[in-house]
Amino acid sequence: MKAAVLYGIHDLRLEERPRPSPAADEVLVRIKAVGVCGSDLHFYHEGHIGDKVVERPYVLGHEAAGEVVEVGADVKAYKVGDRVCLEPGIPCRKCAWDKRGEYNLCPHGVYQSGPHTDGFFQEYTAIPADYVFPLPDNLDWIDGALIEPFVVGLHATWRANVQPGASVAILGAGPIGLMTLAAAQAHGATTTIVADVIEKRLSLARELGATHALNAREVKTVDEVQRLTGGIGADVVFETAGAIPTQQQSVWAARRGGTVVLVGMPGESVIPLDTMRVIRAELSVKGSFRYANHFPKAIDLSASGRFNLRPIATHTFPLEQIGEAFETSLTKKDVAIKVVVTI
Ligand SMILES: [Zn+2]
Repeated sequence: MKAAVLYGIHDLRLEERPRPSPAADEVLVRIKAVGVCGSDLHFYHEGHIGDKVVERPYVLGHEAAGEVVEVGADVKAYKVGDRVCLEPGIPCRKCAWDKRGEYNLCPHGVYQSGPHTDGFFQEYTAIPADYVFPLPDNLDWIDGALIEPFVVGLHATWRANVQPGASVAILGAGPIGLMTLAAAQAHGATTTIVADVIEKRLSLARELGATHALNAREVKTVDEVQRLTGGIGADVVFETAGAIPTQQQSVWAARRGGTVVLVGMPGESVIPLDTMRVIRAELSVKGSFRYANHFPKAIDLSASGRFNLRPIATHTFPLEQIGEAFETSLTKKDVAIKVVVTI
């Protein structure tokens, strides 16, 4: 089979590899579409994310959909020809976190596309059958590749416990910010304020139904969020830009007694934050990391037609042009939101 292997910075090579065989509890999936994630870009462009470093060649990609082509001996839930969405990140299934259902926090699991576990930019992958989910017929392969980032948004809104009628501010309108917008709408948020500096992203936020889209180069985000919420501040602020200034703004855009959820990952892990504000305003500041137990919900919500996530996928390239896909994602941020590779 063909696989796109990352050898080092800006060094992606298409090569032939043996097709995997599914273990007894696995299915073999013929991958059809895979989204390029910001984390893939970090490994491609910088060779690391924090202390996770590319030390030997491996395959990126973890936002995927495909077709079951072989099932392991013990698999009853799937048959050849089933269309599925893949959940990356296989926990150990034995630790304290997995037993609490918080399997995204498992310290022992493997995450496809994190060094050095192969991801999905290849023709086939073998994956435990309980980490794939049926893809309804009204969702195509590209819709299927958009499920994983939608799940990231759903997990963030679940962490925040967004209530019907809530006001939310989303700082950063990249794919995860836009998916968090859709997820907040699913929770019933009525005031949805999205801030970014790229006009294309703001126009997509409007298209997806944001009540307010702010260009942070033209207005002061915190002042605008305060103004748009009657001087109170947002019930929930999501930081999805992964930038230090927006992390610092987040505690001021939230209302007293509100919640801040940090989703984006800046390059540095220690930043100055106004902790006096956190104390005096009794803010709940939470992290949100990947997801647990949300794939079936995300697929149902997407298939319901209530959320038009598809405009987020702005570009597609075949696997043979994966280098172009990565370069487009990296260098054309003014027009490229989510780049999807079809296989
Ligand atoms: Zn575990």
